[in-house]
Amino acid sequence: ADAQFDLAGAIRTIPDYPKPGVMFRDITTLLADPVAFGETVERLVAPFRDIGADKVAGVEARGFILGGALAHQLSAGFVPIRKRGKLPHETVRVAYSLEYGLDEIEMHRDAVKAGEKVILTDDLIATGGTAEGAVKLLRQLGAEIVAACFVIDLPDLGGRKKLEALGVPVRTLVEFE
Ligand code: 5GP
Repeated sequence: ADAQFDLAGAIRTIPDYPKPGVMFRDITTLLADPVAFGETVERLVAPFRDIGADKVAGVEARGFILGGALAHQLSAGFVPIRKRGKLPHETVRVAYSLEYGLDEIEMHRDAVKAGEKVILTDDLIATGGTAEGAVKLLRQLGAEIVAACFVIDLPDLGGRKKLEALGVPVRTLVEFE
């Protein structure tokens, strides 16, 4: 990994998306750049190589892209956490508040077993509402959440502190106001 590489510079900012006043941090530019994507994956997994994670759980949809890469790096399985109604088998579901409203996420009831070590991932943590919902689902199934990792933290919105208060160690790579 190249400690000098400017990950923040690979992220595009779209003003007023999805509504006026929001600065949307768009990681598609980072994902499309092979060096930036590789650096991101290597930096995210670096502290977790020897903790014996069983699964990486990724939140729809950008958490799938990162989660698949992280799971492969860690020789772990991948588990999708999806918006309501997308998963075909028996699920557990939770309602959560997010930056732009209310939503529900769910995961397959048999996707993790009690006692399995899970790393949660998504592209960005803002208020932490989405990640908090994911933590509830994983814990309902008896998973041990060893960490949550995100490319981007918006620290002013308090998500990291919310997760840490739930006892989940948080790793992030880039901060924006
Ligand atoms: P939270 O639940 O922490 O308030 O919001 C985080 C969720 O909203 C994540 O699933 C994330 O993908 C999405 N999100 C909110 N704001 C942004 C943004 O500026 N850029 C990106 N890429 N995702 C965002």
